[in-house]
Formats: sequence, structure tokens, C-alpha cells
Amino acid sequence: MNDRTALVTGANKGIGHHIARLLVAEGFTVHVAARDPELGRRAAEEIGGRPLVLDVTDPGTIADAAARIDRLDVLVNNAGIAPSMAPPAGTDLDELRRTFETNVFGVVAVTNAFLPALRGSAHPRIVNVSSGTASLTWSTNPNPQFAPGHGGAAAYRSSKAALNALTVFYALTLDGFKVNALAPGLRSTDLTARAAAGGDPAEAAEGAVRLALLPDDGPTGGFFSWDGSPVPW
Ligand code: NAP
Repeated sequence: MNDRTALVTGANKGIGHHIARLLVAEGFTVHVAARDPELGRRAAEEIGGRPLVLDVTDPGTIADAAARIDRLDVLVNNAGIAPSMAPPAGTDLDELRRTFETNVFGVVAVTNAFLPALRGSAHPRIVNVSSGTASLTWSTNPNPQFAPGHGGAAAYRSSKAALNALTVFYALTLDGFKVNALAPGLRSTDLTARAAAGGDPAEAAEGAVRLALLPDDGPTGGFFSWDGSPVPW
């Protein structure tokens, strides 16, 4: 089991860096993917991973990265952006496109590029880092506790809802894979401008690692909170 390999996108900081660190601790060879070569190199060095240049919006870096990796057991699609808190009526189309480019199209581009390597694994796992704010059930619940943002951050939340749909469709079509989406909970990272109410990103990373290590009789096509509880779509 010592030759298990994993790749985490956006692993130079935040939740992704913790996921990569925990997978190294689990004995994986971890490809610490980052779009900035120097940040990626430093992040990989810090945790004993392997740096890999990968911008999820850049087909060239995706192809180069995929060409370097023959076999992969775990892919964590973690890289994401949340550039705006605007509701749909105030959402600029360029911002919507940019958000989907990273959070949705980037995930498909990376996943499809690494499918040949994942098919070489006996237990392939894909973890898509989504968001509880993408839950349409929670978003429409009259209980404010479950209505995060009240329709704000429309680009980000709709991109993660699209990611959830893709998670289901990948799970339905990839035999032998476990493909699941994670809701990390609010975390204090750069993405949330270090939200004071945000929890420790390391705790969210544990949830991602749980999904990365699912046994063969574990769930696929599901949406799970960082603590392992199911999240409604
Ligand atoms: P973060 O600290 O801002 O980290 C985001 C990571 O994504 C960074 O490494 C960033 O790289 C990378 N990234 C952005 N665009 C990229 C691209 N085009 N190609 C490659 N990497 C790219 O944010 P985080 O909170 O850890 O977020 C990680 C994931 O968790 C995201 O998918 C986010 O939507 C999700 N999430 C976070 C929270 C939360 O409360 N923090 C809640 C729910 C979901 P650079 O350093 O180069 O920008």
C-alpha cells in the first residue's frame, strides 16, 4: 500500500494544502498541484510532497501535468475561487464565466485528463471540493440557519451546484470509482478573507481524506459534510 498516489489541485494553501499534508501522512505520494511554480515548490517541500505545476484553467499545464503521471489513486479537485458575493441580478457575466472556468470547467478538464491514470488504480477515488452553500435544499429552507447567503454569491454557489451535478454524473458513469462531493463548512482561509467565524481548514481536510480513503463498499455520487454527514442536494 506504500505506492498509493494522490493529486490535490490548489494545494499550495488553504484547505488543499491540509488535504495534501494529511494524504502524505497517510503514506501517499502526493502531487502538490499549484498554478504558481514557486508557491507549489515551497508548499510541497513543507509537507514532503511532489510539486506539480497545474492551472486548472490552462489546458497546456493540464496536459503537461497529466503526461508526467502514469497512475493515480486519488484525485482531489480542490482549486476554487469565489470572487463575488453578488446576487444574480448584480452578477457580471465575465465574473460568472471566470468562476465557472475554475470551479466547473477546470474540474472537468483536470478529471478527464487524469482519468487514464486513475483507471490504472484498483481503487480510484475522486473528491470534488464543493460547498454547503450550493445545496439548493438548504438555500430554500425557510430556517435561516440553512439559508446561507440568502441568494448572494450567486456565481460561486451556482458553480458549485453544477459541480455537484457533475459529481453525480461522473459517479454514474465511472465503474469501480468512488466520486463524491465535500462540503467543507465555513473555514478561515484566503477564499473567505479569513472569516472570523470560519473554522480550522485542517478539520475540513479530514473530511476530504475520509472520502479519498473510502472502502470499496463505500458510497459514490454523494454529497457529504466535513464531518461525514450527508448534505441534501
Ligand atoms: P484558498 O485558501 O483561497 O485556496 C484556493 C486554492 O485554489 C489556492 O491554492 C489557489 O491558488 C487555487 N486556485 C485558484 N484558482 C486556480 C486555478 N485556476 N488553478 C489552480 N489552482 C487555483 O481557499 P480554500 O478556502 O482553501 O478553498 C479550497 C476549496 O474549498 C475551494 O474549492 C472552495 O470553493 C472550497 N470551499 C471553501 C470554503 C471555506 O469556507 N474556505 C467553504 C466551502 C468550500 P493560488 O494561491 O494561486 O490563488
